[in-house]
Amino acid sequence: MEVKRICQWCGKPFIAKKTTTNYCSHQCASQGYKHRMKERRIELRELQELIEVKSKLDHQYYFTFAQAAQLMGVSRQYILHQNKSDENARGHIGTEINNKAETVIQIEKDKDDSNISKVESVHTRSKDFLPFAFCINAQLLPELLPDYVPTKKSVGRPKLEPFSPYKDIHEATHRKALELAFDGKETISGYKALEEELTTAYELAGTKFNHNKIVKIIKFLTNKRMVVQESRGIYRFMPDYHY
Ligand SMILES: [Zn+2]
Repeated sequence: MEVKRICQWCGKPFIAKKTTTNYCSHQCASQGYKHRMKERRIELRELQELIEVKSKLDHQYYFTFAQAAQLMGVSRQYILHQNKSDENARGHIGTEINNKAETVIQIEKDKDDSNISKVESVHTRSKDFLPFAFCINAQLLPELLPDYVPTKKSVGRPKLEPFSPYKDIHEATHRKALELAFDGKETISGYKALEEELTTAYELAGTKFNHNKIVKIIKFLTNKRMVVQESRGIYRFMPDYHY
């Protein structure tokens, strides 16, 4: 039996001997396999991180913002929702915190000394209080530490947040790049072709992204159904996407 197919990797048409063949050549098959394995490794790593957070929670009576964010698969800023003017974000937990709470304070363990807890005002409708710190003394009572010098904000936080196509690229840029990539074409055939078109298109739209970032962007675009894989290896731009 011979079937006409489109190679899932390079997008070229080829004649398959079996209906299960998705690639035109050994080379494309191995590239496609490598790509799938890489995606699986990333998914596995993300899963392991979640399991770590969950196992920590067994010994804890509360969620930290960072943990809640990780469990929800969003950034910490999303939970805290610092951008109060953003109407699009309505319904997020952060908005609700701001709407309902008079004051939001944050209690965090000192990075270098876990006996010390520092208290900061995250959001208050009246005047912010100055950050302070306390420890639990020998009598198991909280004791104020008047001489405590808070570590600089940037110290305890991850400096380099992982690349996020959602946070790091504006929606208008995504749209511009997609319009450029699919300019005059109904669909793009083959993952490699999609990757190449998008690399060029995002560069024309203003930013050059490396291979790893383009892979993340493609995953993001398909998750958000801005680009849909309508059949194996055939990608279609959905201009009416909900962002
Ligand atoms: Zn091929």
